[in-house]
Amino acid sequence: MSNLPSEPEFEQAYKELASTLENSSLFQKHPEYRKALKVASIPERVIQFRVVWEDDKGELQVNRGYRVQFNSALGPYKGGLRFHPSVNLSILKFLGFEQIFKNALTGLNMGGGKGGADFDPKGKSDNEIRKFCVGFMTELSRHIGADTDVPAGDIGVSGREIGYMFGQYKKLRNQWEGVLTGKGLSWGGSLIRPEATGYGLVYYVQHMIQHASKGKESFEGKRVVVSGSGNVAQYAALKVIELGGTVVSLSDSKGSLVIANETDGFTPEEIHAIADLKVARRQLSSIFSADAAEAKLFSTEKFKYIENVRPWLHVGKVDVALPCATQNEISGEEAKGLIDAGVKFVAEGSNMGSTQEAIDIFEADRTSKTDSIWYAPGKAANLGGVAVSGLEMAQNSARLSWTREEVDAKLKDIMKASFENGLETAKQFVPSSGEELPSLVAGSNIAGFMKVAAAM
Ligand code: GLU
Repeated sequence: MSNLPSEPEFEQAYKELASTLENSSLFQKHPEYRKALKVASIPERVIQFRVVWEDDKGELQVNRGYRVQFNSALGPYKGGLRFHPSVNLSILKFLGFEQIFKNALTGLNMGGGKGGADFDPKGKSDNEIRKFCVGFMTELSRHIGADTDVPAGDIGVSGREIGYMFGQYKKLRNQWEGVLTGKGLSWGGSLIRPEATGYGLVYYVQHMIQHASKGKESFEGKRVVVSGSGNVAQYAALKVIELGGTVVSLSDSKGSLVIANETDGFTPEEIHAIADLKVARRQLSSIFSADAAEAKLFSTEKFKYIENVRPWLHVGKVDVALPCATQNEISGEEAKGLIDAGVKFVAEGSNMGSTQEAIDIFEADRTSKTDSIWYAPGKAANLGGVAVSGLEMAQNSARLSWTREEVDAKLKDIMKASFENGLETAKQFVPSSGEELPSLVAGSNIAGFMKVAAAM
């Protein structure tokens, strides 16, 4: 019996990584890494604090704030801040743990961390969000710095929140430094950072498709089911459309917006309309209300809104599935349903988008000789976001700004390296009959872990 409180999300993330290491030949070749795994499973430091702020009615509000400084073997702690009512230490430890190995896989020198608060931005005014961000940073500021710990965005934290927090940090320290990433372009941000996670995910899947088809296929003609409707989902969808794929869904916490027929897909104009709706913090379902500005754009012939479901089993035939909302958004049942719907490529834009049951189902299918599935975990497929954060840190340190083309080219190289690293490491360390596809989840876990363990 453990004397520690149960931390289901963290335990899930830990077991997922540890089981792939155990089932490989890694510990035979490097017995000393067993101890490294044990050491790496405990955060170097966990900071918890109180955030008191005043709402628009003049009433006092209080939330819990956190920063998990998980591992600094490879560089300053690096990872986002999540503002969501579900946030607790288990969720931030899972995210921080994943972040260590994801950041290692970028090839850049970043440690891993994560933070956030159980603050719910939904329904809050700009003024309330600003007050919360200022209160949050007043506490957090004493624990971070450009060479110590560099937070960024995650769910509930985007450019606006980063701006409020950056301003407060600068005021408290009387110092301009690259202490946060995801900054606005005019005050130290990097081009392509908003797009990076979604674009990077699609670049990664391009490599999966090209490798699987021996260069014969691309996104052209593929039906792509996407969950989520935030920054990651939007830019993934736009890149899929640009590359000739058909995006057949988006979703939010209340339901899914799916294409109602077998031929259409979202247009870039529709994705931009959804982006505007998200800025206004509205639900997807609101586009169908008679007075909605988008009512004309989203006809009920083309679109269907289904309450309280994720999109996976509601879009007919699919080739590619991109979970881009939050953790555990594909269950075992949904994984089976996706396979029945014809899915060949699953790649996570979200962190731990699939449950362990879903991963086991996708991974089991890897060994069936016909029509096998390629599954890529978030830490390999969504690392484009934090990678461009790393490029933002580099630009801040050098007092330079790179062009869109330069950053995009570096992002493409990093995603290619992530795919190839996962693939080659799996071939090297995972026992195989030679018949099945290499496991990208095992290969990526082993590659990320080896880099951190060696540095530790
Ligand atoms: N929250 C993002 C992630 O999960 C980005 C973190 C960052 O840019 O530091 O990787």
